[in-house]
Amino acid sequence: MANNNIRVRIAPSPTGNLHVGTARTALFNYLFAKKNKGKFILRIEDTDLKRSKEKYTQNIYESLKSMGLNWDEGPDIGGEYGPYKQSDKLETYKNYAQKLVKQGKAYYCWCQQDEIEKEKNKAAKEKISYKYSRKCKNLTQEQVEQYKVEGREPAIRFCTLSEKLMFDDIVRGQVEFDTNLIDDFVIIKSNGTPTYNFAVVIDDMEMKISHVIRGEDHISNTPKQILIYKALDRSIPVYAHVGMILAPDRSKLSKRHGATAVSEFIAQGYLPEAFVNFLSLLGWSPADNREILELQEIINLFKLEKVSPSPAIFELDKLNWMNGQYIKNLSIQDLTDRARNYFKDFDLSIYSEEQLSHIIDSIRKNLVTLNEIPEAVVYFFGDNVKIDEKIQKDVIELPESQQVLNSFKEFAHTIDYGNLDKIHNQLADFRKSMTGLKPKQIMWAVRAALSGRTQGADIAIIVSLLGKGRVLNRVDKAIIK
Ligand code: GLU
Repeated sequence: MANNNIRVRIAPSPTGNLHVGTARTALFNYLFAKKNKGKFILRIEDTDLKRSKEKYTQNIYESLKSMGLNWDEGPDIGGEYGPYKQSDKLETYKNYAQKLVKQGKAYYCWCQQDEIEKEKNKAAKEKISYKYSRKCKNLTQEQVEQYKVEGREPAIRFCTLSEKLMFDDIVRGQVEFDTNLIDDFVIIKSNGTPTYNFAVVIDDMEMKISHVIRGEDHISNTPKQILIYKALDRSIPVYAHVGMILAPDRSKLSKRHGATAVSEFIAQGYLPEAFVNFLSLLGWSPADNREILELQEIINLFKLEKVSPSPAIFELDKLNWMNGQYIKNLSIQDLTDRARNYFKDFDLSIYSEEQLSHIIDSIRKNLVTLNEIPEAVVYFFGDNVKIDEKIQKDVIELPESQQVLNSFKEFAHTIDYGNLDKIHNQLADFRKSMTGLKPKQIMWAVRAALSGRTQGADIAIIVSLLGKGRVLNRVDKAIIK
């Protein structure tokens, strides 16, 4: 049965492509919603008009969709509590702020940037932490008129009351905060746009958000937000601040550590479902510590109260391992469909669909990401194969290899190219016939001549797919005359 009371949201700012940190937060919100049969909502927080870009909004949509995190309400599909894009509801924020002004819980502030800077510098000199002086709180009517004549546009500041705040965080337990540390912060800027702390409260309130699940980096905003709820006389949502995702050097995950956007990982050939599985284990694990889990299983097992308050380390090795496991476990049809994109530079017309599947099946065991496919399959295409200097020297030019290749050239005429099982047997016979040499050495030489590598797909498959003409040609080229 649907639970209409559980409503969670992910509220990214479209100032960049969807970051893995936001993606993990989105995933935890999604899991919590699905587990409790509630609603998962997407809201675009684009009040920073200068930095917000439509292309980033599109990237957020696409990245969430590729991960399978479909939302129940959002800017593109609407819903009962829209608009779901902050820039579409600037008037609403202003109305709420004016209501607070009328009630004496907020006030217009006419101070200009340089005046604020002066206050800040003074505080720095006196080595005290800066708090706005409240000098606009009790202005005379004349003073206000004067500012208007000067053409100043006012901001609206929230009137912060001193109190000890406490809230229960699902992940972190009881959190206490002394609002004495908070000054009269701006809720509407002089350009008419709301600040994050104000807009987020109005939106969460209007969208009937029951649980705010977000990164620990927002915990210092929570007291300000609670103060606003209280001033508006509205009930406060349940909070859950999850630990951050850090790089292995324990610094904030950033560009210098490599990819940080979901779309970059997908473009690098990570499977979305492997990526989702990996993200789910950053700060959470199922009771039995299993690691390979499908989304539906994760939903069934997920418990928000089991999410860790400590930072989680983003380990690329683990993602790589996991992606390799997913590639191994895909059905061959599915893998072939996904691999198709990576064959753009090759003439696929030389192979049937079945042969293409054989190629992919034969190389998948060594794949970490899908974009390794072109490099892994290149020797199946073209008449010739590139052999680098090292393989030429260390393998091809060895006297034993030359002996093998000379014999193989004869033997290649007798191969039944259309019959894979038979090729296996024939190759086994060939190995046996090369007495005095180690089996590994024998196949090394053949493999190097046919593929330019010392490892890769099964040799019988390579032989059968290359066919007689190319096998003979490549072996002949490798023989030193
Ligand atoms: N726009 C904020 C962010 O992307 C949302 C924070 C929140 O969930 O309250 O960090």
